[in-house]
Amino acid sequence: MSFRNRLALFFVVIVIVPMLAVAFLLFRLVDESAEGQAEAAIAQRHTFASALFRAERRSAEKAIEAVGVDPVFTGALQEGDIDRARRRAQQLLERRPIERIVFVQDGKAVVRVGDKHAIAPAVQRVVSSAEQDLGTLGVSVIDARTYVERVRDLAGLRAVVLNGDKVLASTLPAVDRARLPTGEGASLDVGEDEYRVQNFEDRAAFEGQKIRIFTLGDPSALEDSKTGERLFAGAILLGFFLIAIACAVLVSRTLQQQIAAFLAAARRLASGDFSAQVPTVGHDEFAELGEEFNKMSRELARRLAELSQERGRVQDSMRRLGEAVGANLDRDALLELIVRTAVDGVGADAGRACVRTNGHGTVEERSRVGDMMGLEHAVASVEAEAMSSGSARETTIGVATVMANPLRRADASDEVVGVVSVGRTGRPFTPGDRELFNYLAGQAARSMENVDLHETTTRRSVTDELTGLNNRRAFDDALASEVERAKRFGSDLGLVLIDLDSFKRVNDLYGHPQGDLVLREVARVLRESSREIDHPARYGGEELAVVLPGTDLDGAFKRAERIREEIGQLRIPRLRGAGTVSITTSCGVAAMRPEAADPRALVQAADDALYEAKNRGRNTSVRAR
Ligand code: GH3
Ligand code: MG
Ligand code: MG
Repeated sequence: MSFRNRLALFFVVIVIVPMLAVAFLLFRLVDESAEGQAEAAIAQRHTFASALFRAERRSAEKAIEAVGVDPVFTGALQEGDIDRARRRAQQLLERRPIERIVFVQDGKAVVRVGDKHAIAPAVQRVVSSAEQDLGTLGVSVIDARTYVERVRDLAGLRAVVLNGDKVLASTLPAVDRARLPTGEGASLDVGEDEYRVQNFEDRAAFEGQKIRIFTLGDPSALEDSKTGERLFAGAILLGFFLIAIACAVLVSRTLQQQIAAFLAAARRLASGDFSAQVPTVGHDEFAELGEEFNKMSRELARRLAELSQERGRVQDSMRRLGEAVGANLDRDALLELIVRTAVDGVGADAGRACVRTNGHGTVEERSRVGDMMGLEHAVASVEAEAMSSGSARETTIGVATVMANPLRRADASDEVVGVVSVGRTGRPFTPGDRELFNYLAGQAARSMENVDLHETTTRRSVTDELTGLNNRRAFDDALASEVERAKRFGSDLGLVLIDLDSFKRVNDLYGHPQGDLVLREVARVLRESSREIDHPARYGGEELAVVLPGTDLDGAFKRAERIREEIGQLRIPRLRGAGTVSITTSCGVAAMRPEAADPRALVQAADDALYEAKNRGRNTSVRAR
């Protein structure tokens, strides 16, 4: 079920259903109240109808006074002149608002004038002037028809007046006397109407009469207000209903807006935008949820930043490793690389690598990364342990934890040649950290071996084995780069070619090994007489050469002469037999001008000069022309 449907269901359950119940009860109450009011009104009208009856009797009592004291009437009665009394009664009836006059003498009605249907009479005794009882006088001022019409007009009730079983007057058409109920609070159905019926008896009716008056009221005719009250109640209910709907819509909108805000923020989060914040208002559950959501996105952002930092470190490490693979690293650069990678890899504060300087001698720090503050003590102790035991060691001193791993030679000697260590404060290392560090330390030892091998091979490829000087290839490279440099900076460049004189004879006389020794000694002289920036080399066979950066032709010539003299002073002991061997050399000297820069031309010029020196009889130096 969707959120919207649930809200609708909730609304129906908490608003619509109770409102229907309230409406039902309210309408019932309205109905009952209207009926009650109608009943009460009918009852009041009944009371009014009987009061009207009594009022008519009081009017009759006033009228009877006039008749009872009328001298003509009473005189006639006193005289026993009934006819006169009857005529006088007729006259009084016509002159006054009287409906009927009856006089009863000795149980017999002697005077009887007016409407036979008159009701509510007043009755009094009539006495003669001599206080003699003459009879009973009855006077009525209203007839039954007038009464029922007044009841209809003034009280709004139907009325029926009966004399015994005979209907004297009625405002209820087609009434059946037999159906008129006589009980208290009785009802009578006539057609579609239901009447409340009350009745009373005229206890002082004219002689011989048995008058009973029925008044009938229809409550439903008075219930017009019911519709109005129903409408009023309906309007109130409708008002409440509209307010409830407005509140429900408002609440639903607010909820949906809040949920939409969460949804939008979650979507932004899903798309990688961690700045997404949900607006939180107040302290309700939604605000708490929003706060938690914001916390979550902050945490995610933080974790992401950590991850990207981590990734940056990994990339750095990979780049360094890539560079290491691409470059011919020396030992210190390699150690630096290993330490940096280990520090980054395990998240250490600092690390370093140390190597033995000479065999089993002192240990020297060759590379350091990070700040060792607070770690020095632990580093020193765990490094010593690792080197003496030849295996990985770890120690924790206070808050500092340090791991050290010995660097071993990969050959059969398995000798410990150094140690690498990393440390941090606060957190101890995890098994994962330990494994990575051990791996890197193992790789370090192997790589150092490779560096050694590489260095040896490189050295061999550029070194002449017999003399230890640069070989011809290294000479060519050095000359080419010095020529380039001289061109770039406009500096001089000198070259001296040295050829041993009649060397073949040395071999022939003393043997080849003696010749080798002579060559080595000559090479030593050349090396020792060279500056740091010079490039002495074995050019080939018994020919040597030296490249002299920053040296012009004169300077180069002077250098050649000094070398030649020093070699000439050599006394090389004989390998077999007593005595020494000495040797002379011829030197060809050339220098290069920056504008005419060409290594081959320079060599050619020096070679030509050397040829000239030989021609001149050897043991001499010749400048190129
Ligand atoms: P010149 O004065 O004209 O230079 O005479 P030379 O005998 O020195 O010249 P030549 O070119 O005739 O002979 C060079 C000799 O150098 C031949 C070779 O046996 C010798 N030689 C070259 N390389 C070596 C080496 O590595 N060791 C020894 N012992 N002799 C070598
Ligand atoms: Mg030669
Ligand atoms: Mg020679």
